[in-house]
Amino acid sequence: MAIYDPKSRKAEEFINDGEIRATLAYAEENKRNVELIDQILEKARPHKTETGVACSGLTHREALVLLACDIPEKVEEIYKIAEEIKLAFYGNRIVMFAPLYLSNYCVNGCVYCPYHHQNKHICRKKLTQEEVRQEVIALQDMGHKRLAIEAGEDPVNNPIEYILECIDTIYSIKHKNGAIRRVNVNIAATTVENYRKLKEAGIGTYILFQETYHKQSYLELHPTGPKHDYDYHTEAMDRAMDGGIDDVGLGVLFGLELYKYEFAGLIMHAEHLEAVHGVGPHTISVPRIKRADDIDPDVFDNSIPDDEFEKIIACIRLAVPYTGMIISTRESEEVRGRALKRGISQISGASRTSVGGYTEEERPHDSEQFDVSDQRTLDEVVRWLMEMGHIPSFCTACYREGRTGDRFMSLCKTGQIINCCHPNALMTLTEYLVDYASEETQKVGFALIERELDKITNEKVRGIAAKNIADIRSSNRRDFRF
Ligand code: SAM
Repeated sequence: MAIYDPKSRKAEEFINDGEIRATLAYAEENKRNVELIDQILEKARPHKTETGVACSGLTHREALVLLACDIPEKVEEIYKIAEEIKLAFYGNRIVMFAPLYLSNYCVNGCVYCPYHHQNKHICRKKLTQEEVRQEVIALQDMGHKRLAIEAGEDPVNNPIEYILECIDTIYSIKHKNGAIRRVNVNIAATTVENYRKLKEAGIGTYILFQETYHKQSYLELHPTGPKHDYDYHTEAMDRAMDGGIDDVGLGVLFGLELYKYEFAGLIMHAEHLEAVHGVGPHTISVPRIKRADDIDPDVFDNSIPDDEFEKIIACIRLAVPYTGMIISTRESEEVRGRALKRGISQISGASRTSVGGYTEEERPHDSEQFDVSDQRTLDEVVRWLMEMGHIPSFCTACYREGRTGDRFMSLCKTGQIINCCHPNALMTLTEYLVDYASEETQKVGFALIERELDKITNEKVRGIAAKNIADIRSSNRRDFRF
């Protein structure tokens, strides 16, 4: 039997089934242990340090006790702390992005995904470089600056060379004042050599969802194709980091397995990255299984209700305080609104989950990966965020300034985000408002920017930001950053 060791490079040792089961039992036993719960809440709370604000995070055992706890006042306390942590490290900024589907050719047999090899009625498509150009222009014309590229796994149709060529094409397109300045990549687990090539191509975050940490379920849910190999998939982030990628994004496809098991696995994975590479996950995504062609989510009987989903988000925020947290348009406006208060820091907007979807007038369904619940335009999402007091940010400065991995984390920890990310968010929001927003959104946005500029504590930075904002409004000068 494998022994739990967060420092091990072997999947079954750092995501250890025995340890997860013991954690589940511990959480069940202690879910009403008020004294312990209070101690854990105290540990999770942000505290002042000489250089700023810091958080200790929680171990997987502590975090699961909170997730299991059903005492209403304690759950409210979890939510309060989650919001405090989000505000302490990310302020009221919400980073915006869009997915770009390159190809839905896939050799895997994932039973929950419509791209699965046996699905004969989905329309298979792979973008040519000219089509990538068209899609990117459509995305730039909406105002997007940051993409997450998505593709099925198919060594013949979508080899790494194809992905690299697409990345090059995406970065090369300069249409009007538009530019894609950060390309995150969500493709299947691959080799260290390929991760190195992705790094050289200038990617932002490498994202790979574990789907489920439960090995037996994983093997059943991925019956055929290279993705069947649980260990290879689970150890992918270590290979990515060995290949030089500093920023990796974890995620679980919630609804496939019992959520407490998945939650413990996810936090253990974050602990493992910290223990081995000295830096935790740059982001954690919280996708939930959705209806899709040839897939009925009702067959997955572990689907989670909205309330539990909200609690999962808050508990991740407490356990892994410095990570960016992402929610996609799989979720409705209502669920996304609630999730934003629980610690989410990045959302997608106006997404199309079909290959070539952005250049079609009507939302196409024949090659879609899953139904999109939030179908609003980017302008509507941006206005909605601002009306709730958030700052939609199109900033991509960190990785372009070399602030990746632990360098980004130290920016968070020293409280310098307010003099760096905050002005960057205001400047990129100004770009968005001037170049792409409706008049109504501009009105809300410019008033917000005026108020938010005052929050920049460093006088010099505040002056430069105000001048740059005025420049963006009166000229075609773009891409200012700290
Ligand atoms: N093919 C790549 C891989 O195997 O990791 C990643 C790209 S895939 C397009 C992105 C993610 O979509 C998957 O990792 C999975 O979690 C999610 N997904 C698949 N089917 C889904 C469904 N029916 N509802 C919601 N999300 C789904």
